[in-house]
Amino acid sequence: MSATPFRIGHGFDLHRLVPGRPCILGGVEIPSELGPDGHSDADVLLHALIDALLGACALGDIGEHFPDSDPRYRGADSRDLLRQTLAKVQDAGFAVVNVDCTVISETPRLSKHKEAMAQSVAGLLGLERGAVNIKAKTHEGVDAIGERRAIASHVVVLVSFSS
Ligand code: MG
Repeated sequence: MSATPFRIGHGFDLHRLVPGRPCILGGVEIPSELGPDGHSDADVLLHALIDALLGACALGDIGEHFPDSDPRYRGADSRDLLRQTLAKVQDAGFAVVNVDCTVISETPRLSKHKEAMAQSVAGLLGLERGAVNIKAKTHEGVDAIGERRAIASHVVVLVSFSS
C-alpha cells in the first residue's frame, strides 16, 4: 500500500429513462412519470458512487462485483450494493472522507430533492451531512439526457487509508 494517506475515485453511470419504472436516486424515490431502466433498481447515483468508491481503492468496477448477468442482482436494491461496497472499502483499510455527486437529469427536476438524497447518501455511508454534496443539472435540452431518454450521474470520492 502506498504511503499516500488519501486516494481519489470517480464514478459515472447512465441509464435509459422509460415509463413505468420507479425513479430511485441516491436511495430516494423521486416522483416521476419516467424512471431509469435496468437490471437492478437502476439507481444511477448510487451506481456512480459505488464505482467511485471502488476506483478510489483500486478495487475494479461495479460490473465485476455485481454483474448484471447474475440473477441475484435482478431488481437489487442499490442501497444493499452500496453497503456491500462500503464493507469492501473498509476491509481494504480505507475510510470515506467526502463525496461530491452530480446528477444530470432533464426530467425529473431534482433541485427540491437534493437535500433528501444527500441525507440518504450520508446515512448509507455513515458520514456527517456536511461530507456529502449533491448537485443537480439539466442537459440543456440536447442529446439523450436533454431529450429525456436517459439520466446520468458523476461522483467523486476521497478516501483515507485508515489502518
Ligand atoms: Mg447502473
